[in-house]
Amino acid sequence: MFELTFLGTSASAPSVHRGLTSQVVSYRDHRFLIDCGEGTQRQILISGIGFRRLNRILITHGHLDHILGLGGLISTFSRWEAIEHLEIWAGPWALERIHDLIYGVVLRGARPPVKIDLIPIEKGTLLEDNNYRLSAFPVSHRGPGVFGFSFEELPRHPFLPERAEELQIPPGPLRKELVEGRNVTLPDGQVVTPEDVLGPLRRGTKLVHIGDCGKTNNLLEVCQNADGLVIEATYLSYEAELAHQFGHLTAQQAAELARLAGVGHLYLTHISRRYRESEVLEEASAIFPNVTVARDFAKYEIRRAD
Ligand SMILES: [Zn+2]
Ligand SMILES: [Zn+2]
Repeated sequence: MFELTFLGTSASAPSVHRGLTSQVVSYRDHRFLIDCGEGTQRQILISGIGFRRLNRILITHGHLDHILGLGGLISTFSRWEAIEHLEIWAGPWALERIHDLIYGVVLRGARPPVKIDLIPIEKGTLLEDNNYRLSAFPVSHRGPGVFGFSFEELPRHPFLPERAEELQIPPGPLRKELVEGRNVTLPDGQVVTPEDVLGPLRRGTKLVHIGDCGKTNNLLEVCQNADGLVIEATYLSYEAELAHQFGHLTAQQAAELARLAGVGHLYLTHISRRYRESEVLEEASAIFPNVTVARDFAKYEIRRAD
């Protein structure tokens, strides 16, 4: 299960009700801040999620409405927040701009307050452990090096407590051993193998996050059967020409992608002040009913459909 918190959901400039783009994905002990538009640190405060362990930042691309908040955030970390190490992952062009912001504007020769790693993203796996994998894939938007992110729980064999009861395996360390794939010997001498208490392999939850985006035909495969898809919907279809011109999507295009890819739930963000939220929702839900137009501070749990 992944937890998704929207911190800012506005396109290009903030509005009275929406801050600039940023969201947090949480999974077990991991937290990922995705994009960091201007004002993100205040959004973090209001949301109540806190700064702890918020040391991994993924940047979709280098446009200012997605990175300017990094300056303030790093300046704050230098004063009072207990983060020792910051990782910022982005495409090479975005990373160059972020480097200029941090070292040319914020620090200007001062020693970084925390260890800052600027890590270039390439397509493929970024991080993984025994439970999940985070990977990046290219997205078409204005400019080079734009990426989307896929969070996937690794497939696993579910533990079957009723089988464990039948075999009289006491709750506790013996069950843990079996879940971790090792044979155990019960107090009566009987040997139990993991296969005795584990069910057939089951896929994990999948959450796909795409920021600004101009076309969807190259995204179908990566979005396939995602339980949650976050994607921009900057325009409505009556202004599809403008959307095309600026490398953005209409709500209709985003919904069509969700429908074709068999997505569980669609979350639309990067909402323009040009439209009312209800218009965006109406256009998308006509094509794909399981859709939410994200609002600042909204929190969602993303779970496998079955
Ligand atoms: Zn943007
Ligand atoms: Zn952009």
